[in-house]
Amino acid sequence: MAIQTKRLYFDDPYQADFEGKILDRRTHQEKPALILDQTCFYPEGGGQPADRGTLSGVTVFHVLEQDGEILHILEDEIPGDTVKGVIDWDTRLDHMQQHTGQHVLSQCFHRLLSGKTLSFHLGEKLSTLEIGLPSITDSDQDRIETCANRAVFQNREIKTYFVEGSEVSSVPLRRPPKKSGRIRVVEAVGFDYSACGGTHPHRTGEIGLIKILKREKIRSNLRFEFVCGNRALEDYRMKNRILTEVAARFSAGEADLPAVVDKLLSEQKESARIMKKLRSRLIEQEAREMVRDSHDPVILEQFKERTAQDVRQLALEVIQSPGRVVLFGLQSGERAHMVMARSEDMAIDLRELIPVVSPVLNARGGGRPSLVELAGDRPEALTEAMNAARQNLKI
Ligand SMILES: [Zn+2]
Repeated sequence: MAIQTKRLYFDDPYQADFEGKILDRRTHQEKPALILDQTCFYPEGGGQPADRGTLSGVTVFHVLEQDGEILHILEDEIPGDTVKGVIDWDTRLDHMQQHTGQHVLSQCFHRLLSGKTLSFHLGEKLSTLEIGLPSITDSDQDRIETCANRAVFQNREIKTYFVEGSEVSSVPLRRPPKKSGRIRVVEAVGFDYSACGGTHPHRTGEIGLIKILKREKIRSNLRFEFVCGNRALEDYRMKNRILTEVAARFSAGEADLPAVVDKLLSEQKESARIMKKLRSRLIEQEAREMVRDSHDPVILEQFKERTAQDVRQLALEVIQSPGRVVLFGLQSGERAHMVMARSEDMAIDLRELIPVVSPVLNARGGGRPSLVELAGDRPEALTEAMNAARQNLKI
C-alpha cells in the first residue's frame, strides 16, 4: 500500500514552510529519501519541475512521485522523527507563472485556431508548448499573444477544486483528463478549465507578461518557446540592452538597425570582391617577378604567414610560363604544406615525389602529374623535405 502524503500546495500554493513527520526512509539512486505525512514540495510531473528547498537545513536534491508516493531525495540523512521544510519561493513563483501562462496560451490556441495542446515542458530558461497545428502566420501568433495577455490583464480569479469521476463530464475541460476517476480542476474563471495537479496563483495577473519567443515545426506540429512573468522581464531587459548598445554603436535608431546591417553586409561583400581581385593581381605580379628573376627552371621558395590557397595560386601562376617546376613550402603554425607544380610542357610526374616528401613531413596528400599538394605536422622539417624533393627531380 502506497504511503500517502498530504499535498499542502493543493490548498495553499503560497505556503513556503511546514513541519512534517517522517513516515518512511528510503534510498533513491544511492541518496537518502524521505516520505512525509505532509509537504509543500511539488513533485516533478505534468511538465512542471519539482520545487527546490531544504528539509531541516538539508538540501532537497529532487522530489518525485513513484507509485503514488512522494519521495524527497536528500543530499544527506536527517535524524529524528520530524522535519522543518522550506521551499524556495522564487522558484515556486517562477513555476506558477510559467505553468499558468501555459494554461492561458493553450486556451487561446484552442479558442482562436482550434489548436490542441499536445505537450508542455517547463524548462530552466524557457518553456515549450507543442500545438497540433501544421503552421500559423506571424499575425496569428500575435493574436494568440494578445489573447493571452488580455486574460492576464483581466486579472481573472483562478480556482482549484476536485471533481468526482461521475461529475467530470459536467466540467467544460479544454482537453479530456489523462486519468479516470477523481480529478483536480484548475479554473481561470470564465476562461479556461484544465485537469491539472500543478501549482497556480489565485489570479491571472500574477502570471505577468506572456511572450512567445519562437516557433518551429516539429513532426507535423508546431512547438512554441515562451516565457512569462519575471522571465519575460529578464528577456526584455536583455534584448533592450543589446538593441540599445548596437544602435549606439551605429549611431542609429533601433528601428533603423535592420537597414543599417543590410547596408553593412552589402558593403562588406563588395569589399571582399575587390580584395579578391586585388589579391589575384598581386599574385600575378609576384609570379611574373619570380619567373623573371630565376634562371633555374626549378623554383624553390619557402613562405610564412600566407594562406595555403595563396601559395597554390602563386604556383599555378608561375607554371603558366613554359619550362618551370615550383617547389613551394609553407609553414603555418604547427602545420607544414608543400605545393609542387610544373608547366604543361615538362614531362615529369610530380606524384613520384610523394613518397620522398611524405615521411619527412609526416604528411598526407596527393594530386595529379602536374600538381601535388601535401600537408603534415612537422614544420621544422620543411627545408629538409624541399631539398629532398629537389634532389629527386632529374633536372
Ligand atoms: Zn497544468
